[in-house]
Amino acid sequence: MEQSNFTPEEEALINQEFASLLDAYAHTAHRQKTELITHAFNFANKAHYGVRRLSGEPYILHPLAVAKICVEEIGLGSTSICAALLHDVVEDTDYTVEDIAGLFGEKIAQIVDGLTKISGGVFGSQSSEQAENFRKLLLTISDDIRVVLIKIADRLHNMRTLSAQPKEKQYKIAGETMYIYAPLAHRLGLFPIKTELEDLSFHYEHPETWQEIHDKLEVVKSSQLAQFESFAAPIRSRLESMGYRFSLTARIKSVYSIWKKMEQRHIQFEDVYDLLAVRIVFTPNESMSEKDQCWVIYSAITEIYRPHPERIRDWISSPKANGYEALHVTVMAASGEWVEVQIRTDRMH
Ligand code: MN
Repeated sequence: MEQSNFTPEEEALINQEFASLLDAYAHTAHRQKTELITHAFNFANKAHYGVRRLSGEPYILHPLAVAKICVEEIGLGSTSICAALLHDVVEDTDYTVEDIAGLFGEKIAQIVDGLTKISGGVFGSQSSEQAENFRKLLLTISDDIRVVLIKIADRLHNMRTLSAQPKEKQYKIAGETMYIYAPLAHRLGLFPIKTELEDLSFHYEHPETWQEIHDKLEVVKSSQLAQFESFAAPIRSRLESMGYRFSLTARIKSVYSIWKKMEQRHIQFEDVYDLLAVRIVFTPNESMSEKDQCWVIYSAITEIYRPHPERIRDWISSPKANGYEALHVTVMAASGEWVEVQIRTDRMH
């Protein structure tokens, strides 16, 4: 990191990113503590002033991005946003935790302190036993889960910008992410983040395999999505006639989850049948229990499409340990391909 002045364009970008953070925050149901957040931004901006990341961009863009992930992708509020904006100040500048406490209060200072303590690497010279301890530490570091959530946001942004790092560092960080942060995100119910962390790690750990699967996926993606429309249409009209408010969306499997399936089942890309997953999120009506209504919808769908007899996953009767609830069923589309349908209520979602 070298000291230098920012260009007017960079100054404008910093202000623009901060405005975009405030805008994302304004669209949440949180109490609008904009003043405190602005204070934290101004302080962090000054503390990191003139410093650049390896990519060359102003350092402050990193805490800004981490704060934005906290708001938009994790749903955290002002305390976490401030802590995210300040998360590298104690480690990278001359300010102390006491300074943060004096300016922003004990709570924010405690979180920044927790984040500073777990900022070191895990692997490298250390043994895997220590990595395991670190993993436990992350889970128990404090009674404040926000430390772990902000740490995951920090890692997600570092993974998204990993290409700026030298090769060996990419490899090490990707390994840590796969070993520690993706399982943590999973355990905390941050499923889209878990999927993205795994995919990014896999990208850096096995670039050739990643590229190969990615390219094959690109080829079939458009036909898969076209298939979704004709697959979804009869389900849509059936649910409408039942009087449900719902959303029906398509998800294409990630490169990493395709690879995992290929490895576990010893199959080729072409034999991974459930590239496309369909998700139904509905608002239950008062007349019946949520659970019963999931089964009513299941039954409506299997009247349209034939279910795979061995592929029903009932995470409604017994939710997963991380709280995941849904009913999964795999049915045969008119094209003859298997499609996984996930059924859940908006509460479960
Ligand atoms: Mn950071």
